[in-house]
Amino acid sequence: MAGISGILAFDKVWNVNKFLKYSLIGLQHRGYNFTGVAVYNEGKIESKTYNESPEDAEVSYDGWAGIGYSGSRKGYPVKVGGIAYVVDGVLKENPEEFAKDLLKDPERALENAKGVFNLIALTENEKIIAYRDKFGLRPLFLGGFGFDLGIVSSESSGINVIGGDTKREINPGEMVVLERFNVESKQLRVERKATCSIEYIYQSRIDGILEKSQIYDVRIRIGEELAKEWPISADTVVGVPDTALPFAIGYSRKLGLRVDLGFTRTGSPIRTMIAGDNFLKVVGVQLKLNPIRSAFFGKRIVLIDDSMVTGTTLKNTVFNLRKMGAKEIHILIGSPKLVRPCPYGVEVPSESDLIAANLKDEDIAKVIGADSIHWLSIDGLFRSIGNKDLCYGCMGGIYPG
Ligand code: SF4
Repeated sequence: MAGISGILAFDKVWNVNKFLKYSLIGLQHRGYNFTGVAVYNEGKIESKTYNESPEDAEVSYDGWAGIGYSGSRKGYPVKVGGIAYVVDGVLKENPEEFAKDLLKDPERALENAKGVFNLIALTENEKIIAYRDKFGLRPLFLGGFGFDLGIVSSESSGINVIGGDTKREINPGEMVVLERFNVESKQLRVERKATCSIEYIYQSRIDGILEKSQIYDVRIRIGEELAKEWPISADTVVGVPDTALPFAIGYSRKLGLRVDLGFTRTGSPIRTMIAGDNFLKVVGVQLKLNPIRSAFFGKRIVLIDDSMVTGTTLKNTVFNLRKMGAKEIHILIGSPKLVRPCPYGVEVPSESDLIAANLKDEDIAKVIGADSIHWLSIDGLFRSIGNKDLCYGCMGGIYPG
């Protein structure tokens, strides 16, 4: 997974360097192991990849147009001759050949490219080209900073954190070209729309909007749906930070059940699913989830999390809550079961590592040490999101193509 941004100033006196860095910081929840930037100035593009997050990377190039990447793959931006590009998704083309094709004829190159990907390119003929994947699996937004900057970014957070306004979502299969004093759009491909369900459940930032729905509201509704599907008699409901907090609020509202903040965090957020190595995964769990004893001692708990992959994180958490004196622990997962991998670049492990693909519910509860475990249904997910134009292939549903 990755977050990508592109910023072009309509007047050359601007320096987009810092804007780019902070836009990428606003996207680093999508992946942060590598940062890459390419900046245009004085007729040439300079580009660099950093083995660290946008927050830590010293982005030093000055210029009035630039693109950037924050994600889990090394190698972006790809720069060949007079063009550089960044990708979120899976582009199944030879990077050098594709860059040449893109410089020659962007429409044709994007129409013919294999894979499902969002792309932002910077060219030496002073353009930024943005393209959203043909299914609209991943988000891509167009925005601006007054009449001074044109901005494209994976999420509205990549625009809003630098003081910009989000204008609209780029449509699936649409190409947008930013030049000085001009923004043009062309629809290149039309397929069945299928937004990635995971974006709603935990990938996109809570302050964002997707397909006109506020992510926060969707997550509250997921909690309400869980309450309808799995009303559990308990003393309190706790959401695992950060994604599952609105699930817990929705669940509590629906059932009139007390809600508690059960955990506090040490250091900056680490998304354990995208943490680069096993050590970080283990340490990430501990840092992310330090339990507050009084929230759990002697209580019957409903604990809500956003997803369950291998079960390691929850097993650890349940173990810690037992140590804190929790009487009963009932786990609710705010997504349907993850049972298959993602062919589109989201880091869902292979089937053999997905606990829900291999064990019955009672056995999973035993393995993680919980009293019970339940998942949101696919219909519950559709109702929470409010539409069915979704990809839910990794949940045993339909892959768009
Ligand atoms: S398979 Fe799953 S993770 Fe991949 S795009 Fe579809 S819903 Fe998202």
